[in-house]
Amino acid sequence: MADKKLTVEVVTPERSVAGKEIDSLVVPASEGYLGVLPGHAPLVTGLQVGVITMKNGGQDETIAISGGFMEVIEDKVTIMPDTAETAAEIDAARAERAKERAEERLEKRPEGLDAARAEAALQRAIARIKAVKGVR
Ligand code: ATP
Repeated sequence: MADKKLTVEVVTPERSVAGKEIDSLVVPASEGYLGVLPGHAPLVTGLQVGVITMKNGGQDETIAISGGFMEVIEDKVTIMPDTAETAAEIDAARAERAKERAEERLEKRPEGLDAARAEAALQRAIARIKAVKGVR
């Protein structure tokens, strides 16, 4: 049991972000956070903006993602988000600035504001900040 692993690939339209063998992961699926262990039933699901947590030998690694899809087939997990950054890659100050910008827009509601776009930018920034902190 303990040596059963998941093979995970995280690939965006731009690049391969991660590829590794892990014990389990939790992803922000469209219906809410979803855990995947070895032996999981075949699955295809949409993903929301949020944080992926990968567990391996007592170590947690977090990746911020925005949207996309995940496929699980026979312990092979393929995650295809629109954007993804590992915690180590995230520029925390940039994410804080993006969060403040989005919050200001949503508060001031200037003429012609695309509120959905500002809300999506806010959620991406929050996910990045959480991933840096190692939480979801
Ligand atoms: P910003 O306003 O700071 O550009 P954004 O949410 O508009 O943030 P995205 O459009 O989601 O940015 O992403 C554009 C590219 O920049 C993607 O490749 C994404 O991985 C990368 N990226 C965005 N924010 C960060 C960050 N804080 N640290 C590292 N890479 C980031």
